Formats: sequence, structure tokens, C-alpha cells
Amino acid sequence: MTEEKKNWELLRMNREKRPKVQNWTSYWDLPYGPVSLPVKGSAGRTGDWRTFRPVVDNEKCIKCYFCYMYCPEGTISVNDETGFVEIDYNYCKGCGVCATNCPKECIDMEKENK
Ligand code: SF4
Ligand code: SF4
Repeated sequence: MTEEKKNWELLRMNREKRPKVQNWTSYWDLPYGPVSLPVKGSAGRTGDWRTFRPVVDNEKCIKCYFCYMYCPEGTISVNDETGFVEIDYNYCKGCGVCATNCPKECIDMEKENK
């Protein structure tokens, strides 16, 4: 069975038998599946009312891209040259989903000073 077929088979299993997302070690391990990608700015400039801002410590980042995948605003991108993630603060609403799902705990939610 090809790797791609194996991934589809995992998705077709009963919900209880499917492996949990948290058991995978990176974005690349996830099985294929339909995903609705958020569009940056579709709800306006959502960064204006942020109370906390996510700050990434690249020293600890393992480039798994879970933060990129989970961000509900689509504000996290990957720098083609460095491979590190970048956050567009014009649209980041400070929800902390990225920080919660970072397996290396390298995203700190810092209080905004403005
Ligand atoms: S806090 Fe993180 S997950 Fe939430 S909008 Fe900002 S970058 Fe996206
Ligand atoms: S910041 Fe965390 S979740 Fe995002 S790529 Fe780096 S290690 Fe992964």
C-alpha cells in the first residue's frame, strides 16, 4: 500500500481508532484530508484589538508548522529562505491557538503595551 493510500485509510477508520493529531510530530506527518484554509484579513484588520501578541523563539523552533496549520486567521507564514514561521501582526488577533499547539512551547503570549 502506498503512503498516500495508508493515510487515507487512517482517516476512514472509526473516530475512536483514528490516531490523534497530537500524536504526530509535525505538519508533514498528517494524513491528507480536506482543509478549509482561512484567508488573511477576511474579517478585517483583526490585529487592532489584540491584548496579547505571540512571539516565537526561533532558537527552540523545530519547524514542525503546527502553528501555521492551526492559526484560525491565516496570519502565520513560512519564510522561504530560513524556514522559520513569521506572524503578520496586522491580522493576528492574539487568540493563542498557535502557542497552545506548539509542541516545543516556543511561542510566548506577551501583553501588548499599546
Ligand atoms: S495568536 Fe497565533 S493562532 Fe491566534 S491569530 Fe495570532 S498567530 Fe494566529
Ligand atoms: S513555533 Fe512551534 S509550532 Fe511553530 S513551527 Fe516552531 S516549533 Fe512548530
